[in-house]
Amino acid sequence: MPDVRKGRCFCGVITFEFNAPPNWVAYCHCESCRRATSSPVTTYIGVPYSEFRYVSGSPKTYQSSPGVRRRFCGSCGSQMAFESDEYPGEIHLFAATFDDPEALAPRGHVHTGEQLSWFETADALPRFDRAGGGNKPTHFGPKRS
Ligand SMILES: [Zn+2]
Ligand SMILES: [Zn+2]
Repeated sequence: MPDVRKGRCFCGVITFEFNAPPNWVAYCHCESCRRATSSPVTTYIGVPYSEFRYVSGSPKTYQSSPGVRRRFCGSCGSQMAFESDEYPGEIHLFAATFDDPEALAPRGHVHTGEQLSWFETADALPRFDRAGGGNKPTHFGPKRS
């Protein structure tokens, strides 16, 4: 049974699917993602690009920094994907755009060095000061002051 996951933008012009287990699911607390999504934090799904496709529509692109492409719906403005030369072969989708986000619980937090002081979650997941990947977590669970 293929593990097909589907999602869409707010207005439904852009729909997508992929057929693979996610590489990872994580909260990102960096300032760039905060500005791109107009939210204190966002939740990404890392997916092999080869297993991903747009079923309908095609997003517009904003190059937020060299080598970084942020895709969004030109009709309703939903953020659809993050792609970076730093992560070749991978596309980062947003948990909130999926038809079934409940099935995609985050497994960690990245860039907590840029986390807002008034935003916190109570989970015991690993927290990375900067990027995740092969790095060691800075700590687990909420910040201690
Ligand atoms: Zn849309
Ligand atoms: Zn980020």
